[in-house]
Amino acid sequence: MEAAKVEKNNEPIENRKSKIENKLEGRVAIVTGGGRGIGRSIALTLAEEGADLIVSDIDPEGISETAEGVRSLGRKSQAVKADVSIVADVKHMVDKCIAEFGKVDILINNAGITRDSLLVRMKEEDWDIVLKVNLTGTFNCMKAVTKYMMKQRKGRIVNIASIVGVMGNAGQANYASSKAGIIGLTKSIAKELAPRGINVNAIAPGFIDTEMTRSMPEKAREELLKQIPMRRLGLPKDIANCIRFLVSDDSDYITGQVIHVNGGML
Ligand code: NDP
Repeated sequence: MEAAKVEKNNEPIENRKSKIENKLEGRVAIVTGGGRGIGRSIALTLAEEGADLIVSDIDPEGISETAEGVRSLGRKSQAVKADVSIVADVKHMVDKCIAEFGKVDILINNAGITRDSLLVRMKEEDWDIVLKVNLTGTFNCMKAVTKYMMKQRKGRIVNIASIVGVMGNAGQANYASSKAGIIGLTKSIAKELAPRGINVNAIAPGFIDTEMTRSMPEKAREELLKQIPMRRLGLPKDIANCIRFLVSDDSDYITGQVIHVNGGML
């Protein structure tokens, strides 16, 4: 019976089946800070879903390995060394993407650094560099891809913020300010680009098990675990799985949002 094939107020079941695999087939993504950690997990997850990728980072070895991983999943990938805080590097990264793939559909602004210390001891250069890489770097990359996405009238941008940008953290005034800035940037650009078919969202991870958190003293790590209702640090794939949703057609009507992925911490 025809009605049985169609869910109420929904798509025909057959259409849905055809979307189960390779949701990102034919799409092209750029992932910054893709040489390790969360960025590498995001790159491999997008490749699993069918996307071709530019993997970018300041670490050439890391991105070569990630790009190799993407190719082993049957997708095309180029490793491009680029510092997101340098406009010329970002232009080179985007130019390479256009030259290689002819377009850019997805941008994941993941590159980020910490330079922690209490305010009274924080050096001005540590304030400056964290803002420059985390916040200005995100701005640089968004600006560089936008003209291509606007022409296509379609695009997805996901910025990696942090729980710390929402709740603050002693010893991380520079990092927290940069991540709070990313949230304001995301919400503003989402409003600018929504009429052009471009969705801009942010993910605010809690504490994720990567090099960034491994340098924490054991005692601080134990204290941290007590504050996480799920009693574990997040894994890079917890963030990558959220990205999978935010860049797919399933999230078409979501823009300007901050999705918290933190094991219940906030
Ligand atoms: P990692 O330090 O493991 O990875 C970050 C990557 O970004 C590194 O490969 C690093 O290169 C690269 N990078 C650093 N500076 C630049 C730059 N100027 N241009 C391009 N690439 C650069 O961090 P995570 O994977 O843990 O973090 C990824 C993102 O998630 C960051 O934005 C971070 O702030 C955010 N985040 C992480 C959390 C966590 O608990 N881990 C929690 C909340 C947010 P290199 O190795 O050479 O330094």
